[in-house]
Amino acid sequence: MGARRASKGKDGDRRIGRRALIVGGAATAAGTAVLARDELARLWWRVPGVDKPREQGAVDFTGARWVAASDANWRRADRPDDYGIDMVIVHVTQGSFDSAVRAFQDPGHKAATHYIVGQDGRVTQMIRELDVAYHAGNRDYNERSVGIEHEGFVDRPQDFTDEMYEASARLTARICARYDIPVDREHIIGHIEVPGTDHTDPGPHWDWDRYMKLVRRARTAPSTPSTPSTPTAPTRA
Ligand SMILES: [Zn+2]
Repeated sequence: MGARRASKGKDGDRRIGRRALIVGGAATAAGTAVLARDELARLWWRVPGVDKPREQGAVDFTGARWVAASDANWRRADRPDDYGIDMVIVHVTQGSFDSAVRAFQDPGHKAATHYIVGQDGRVTQMIRELDVAYHAGNRDYNERSVGIEHEGFVDRPQDFTDEMYEASARLTARICARYDIPVDREHIIGHIEVPGTDHTDPGPHWDWDRYMKLVRRARTAPSTPSTPSTPTAPTRA
């Protein structure tokens, strides 16, 4: 979400999967009989809609709470097999945490991110990373990215709390690890940097240097569970 520069049409994000057409065409042309059995299986696996088993309420980030977005705000996919993921896009909600959750549950909203991070560091997941969320205002960027909202307003620097930066950085670091995404500003970008967008978030008060430092630190940390509240041995004061 985020502040808009001008009004613009919605993500025109519904279409028959390009890959479904290509794969279907190739299989027909070659003749199914000549395709090796395992090759067929692989092609079939890659047709969008024929996807991995899903568990109700499952999350991709340990510690995240699951709240389902309206299915009008995303498209079912099978990432990273049908579309590679090589980007994280940072947003700011321009509203409260709860108002963002409600907006993403609203089929009329026509947009949603995968995650919302609160000022208190809580993380809610509303769309699986397997699926394409409509958040970037650009079909290609939607297909290749994971979108993260941050609770606050672009013109209120005090909204960007330590807890929010820390939690979001851990989340982004896990996403980068999962899909082998380089931790740099080419691959971790703001909504404003998406070509053709009319949004300005996360705005001038988002501290990119600080955020990238935190992501790098979390990324290189020993691969222990990403939950912030992992019990540790008691320490003496
Ligand atoms: Zn945005």
